[in-house]
Amino acid sequence: MSPPTDEHLTRARVWFRCEKSREGLIGRFVRRSDAWWLDALARTTTAPEQANTGAIPVSGILQTAPLFPGCAACQAPSFAQCSTCSGFGCSSGPGSWWTCPWCGNAGEIVLKEHFDLNAVEMG
Ligand SMILES: [Zn+2]
Ligand SMILES: [Zn+2]
Repeated sequence: MSPPTDEHLTRARVWFRCEKSREGLIGRFVRRSDAWWLDALARTTTAPEQANTGAIPVSGILQTAPLFPGCAACQAPSFAQCSTCSGFGCSSGPGSWWTCPWCGNAGEIVLKEHFDLNAVEMG
């Protein structure tokens, strides 16, 4: 269940990094019924140095949108959240090996539906 306060909001922007180049990205999640769909992952020059910064806590199901075009930097088809620093990065998807582009923690990506994160901007 999502908190009732964000029910009316349909978009959330979240800081990402590209797993391969480590460059800053901003991800756009669009709300579809009970889930947030990642539908864009764009380059940005303003991403912070620290992972998972953002003033708006969001809790819910995150998925890749069916027409997600991939990471703007490397075309990776999916995303992952680091279990150590909570940072988000592009990824090859569940089952693949992933190195966090924020803190360097590495491991196999585990399929997960429910996420807690901090969005930069919503609306
Ligand atoms: Zn990438
Ligand atoms: Zn990390």
